[in-house]
Amino acid sequence: TLQDRLQATFRSLRGKGRLTDADIDATAREIRLALLEADVNLGVVKEFVAAVKERAKGAELSQALNPTQQIIKIVNEELIEILGGQARTLRFAKNPPTVIMLAGLQGSGKTTLAGKLGLWLRQQGHTPMLVAADLQRPNAVNQLQVVGGRAGVPVFAPEPGNGIGDPVSVARASIEEAKRKFYDTVIVDTAGRLGVDAELMQQAADIRDAVNPDEILFVVDAMIGQDAVNTANAFAEGVGFDGVVLSKLDGDARGGAALSIAKVTGKPVMFASNGEALGDFDLFHPDRMASRILDMGDLLTLIEQAEKTFDADQSRKAAEKLMAGKGFGLDDFLGQMQAVRKMGPMSKILGMMPGMGQMKDAIANIDEREIDRIEAIIYSMTPAERAKPDILNGSRRSRIANGSGTSVQDVNGLVNRFMETRKLMQQMGRGGGLPGMPGMGG
Ligand code: GDP
Ligand code: MG
Repeated sequence: TLQDRLQATFRSLRGKGRLTDADIDATAREIRLALLEADVNLGVVKEFVAAVKERAKGAELSQALNPTQQIIKIVNEELIEILGGQARTLRFAKNPPTVIMLAGLQGSGKTTLAGKLGLWLRQQGHTPMLVAADLQRPNAVNQLQVVGGRAGVPVFAPEPGNGIGDPVSVARASIEEAKRKFYDTVIVDTAGRLGVDAELMQQAADIRDAVNPDEILFVVDAMIGQDAVNTANAFAEGVGFDGVVLSKLDGDARGGAALSIAKVTGKPVMFASNGEALGDFDLFHPDRMASRILDMGDLLTLIEQAEKTFDADQSRKAAEKLMAGKGFGLDDFLGQMQAVRKMGPMSKILGMMPGMGQMKDAIANIDEREIDRIEAIIYSMTPAERAKPDILNGSRRSRIANGSGTSVQDVNGLVNRFMETRKLMQQMGRGGGLPGMPGMGG
């Protein structure tokens, strides 16, 4: 399979210290195949792979990842970026009702989506109404009414004798109805054809002009593969849209359509539909889609773990040095603090780091600004001073205070705190292992 082939390529890269251009080219070829097999549009694949190659060539070597993992990480990040990074959700109108119009080919899942969106909105405390502006197929109105009934959302439809017979008039009248009855969102279901055609586009454009939507959602069947780009382009030109909904993701489509459409139209994928039931619906998650397109979920998880392990490794090494005795210097102290800062709020993280449990008391009350000051002080020391703070006499201390823009008291405070911490930790180290320090038992 493809995954095997990719992993074989990656295996062959393993163990190299540095990526050559040839390595990058070989990997890029495999990734190109992976994307094509996921049904990503050829033009999109070419552009994408070129961008990844560019970035891989300029990339700094990561210490945590081997070159293979690094390229996959880049590919994954670029995919997520194109798919919309942080997913966007619906924009609601300042003056209700918010009008959402659904457009797309017949069978793409519009009517089903109307029900799903209706239920989803209702669950969030909105008061949606569905509008049957698909009068093309005999059963279309009835289908929407069934879906609305299941979702517990009212449906506005032409009735015999109410004089509204065409989709544009229905759509227009529905807005008045929503205002009268204080529905805050109106979801307009429209007709689709089996293929793109001019009459269909005209009708959709007319409905659009009649209701002035806040969001036009283009609904597309994830299974249609390579055709997705042409269809999306036709709708972008004919009607225009603000966001994409991918349906039928419960099928075995790898999701190349999502990438193609997002890249070509520049519009975000906003929702994902993954089944016939009303609850089979979710906000779109670019990261999940990226791993589906790459079909390498396991590998991506491994990469994440490798990076985390590396961080943990760094702090473990520092802790080991400390336990061994005198090796622990201000450099290590600073490294620990920077690692903590990189990882987030101090209080939460401290307890999780090997060796840091004991430092907790010493630095628990240090705020971010104080870390900046500590950094400045340590950077103003010579390597010898950092390694052996014992040599810090009065004149060295005042030189350091000057160099770091702090006071001698600040320098004294830091050095004293460091010495105390180190002493405490060494005592505990001789006591035979610290309680609550994972990985320090041996
Ligand atoms: P429309 O013509 O665009 O209104 O599409 P419909 O909403 O009528 O859907 C066409 C068919 O696809 C129906 O049989 C739906 O039950 C089915 N369908 C819609 N969305 C999904 C989905 O996410 N997954 C699956 N498996 N079927 C879906
Ligand atoms: Mg329909």
